[in-house]
Amino acid sequence: MIKQNSRGTLIVISAPSGSGKGSVIEGLLKNDSKNRWLSVSTTSRPIRENDIPGKTYNFVTKEEFEKKIEEGYFLEYTKYAGNYYGTPKEFIGDKLKAGIDVILEIEIEGANNIKKLVPEALFIFIMPPSIKEMAKRLRNRGTDSKEKILERFHTAYKEINEVTKYNYVVVNDILENAIAKVEAIITSEKCRVDRIEEVFLDTKEEEIHELLIDDKEFINEDINI
Ligand code: 5GP
Repeated sequence: MIKQNSRGTLIVISAPSGSGKGSVIEGLLKNDSKNRWLSVSTTSRPIRENDIPGKTYNFVTKEEFEKKIEEGYFLEYTKYAGNYYGTPKEFIGDKLKAGIDVILEIEIEGANNIKKLVPEALFIFIMPPSIKEMAKRLRNRGTDSKEKILERFHTAYKEINEVTKYNYVVVNDILENAIAKVEAIITSEKCRVDRIEEVFLDTKEEEIHELLIDDKEFINEDINI
């Protein structure tokens, strides 16, 4: 009855540090690994203990990053906590065309830039359950220095006020619930009427009219209309 736009959805997920967004995204990818793709960003920040180059980020020097900016390599980029972060353009268009949802895990300024470029993208904000919990998660990460943790906390604290720029907000109190909520949001997005390309009636009105008149045939369960 309807033909829907088969393009994938560009899903932008932002969250203050310490909101546990990494685990939410991991859950989303596990749930539907074939139809979802997480864009790997490029960054000039130092590699952390848990990083896997090429998987968590592509790591480059500041100079290499700036060269890539000049070459027009990025869809968007920003400077965050003193380091560059950027979303490479390549693959995104092809993935979307192939019906694959593309997830961008980026901070707020990057999300704002994407909104200007792709207003129809889906913007989801993951919120920590409380400021205290956010601070605890930041501290327990143990990979950053005290100063870095403090800096990240202050940035995260400010970022919470930006939530109203997003389409949806999900509080990450219980991980499974948060993942289920994001799944529900993605499902709803796919059902939006503005994704409809065509509405068509699969049977002619006259055919149904005849069936309605011929009661006997219509109540026959084997009927194939
Ligand atoms: P982290 O250093 O903790 O991995 O990331 C710091 C922040 O940079 C996070 O909020 C993360 O979402 C954001 N980020 C990661 N990749 C990109 C990107 O390609 N573009 C933008 N704008 N932000 C990014």
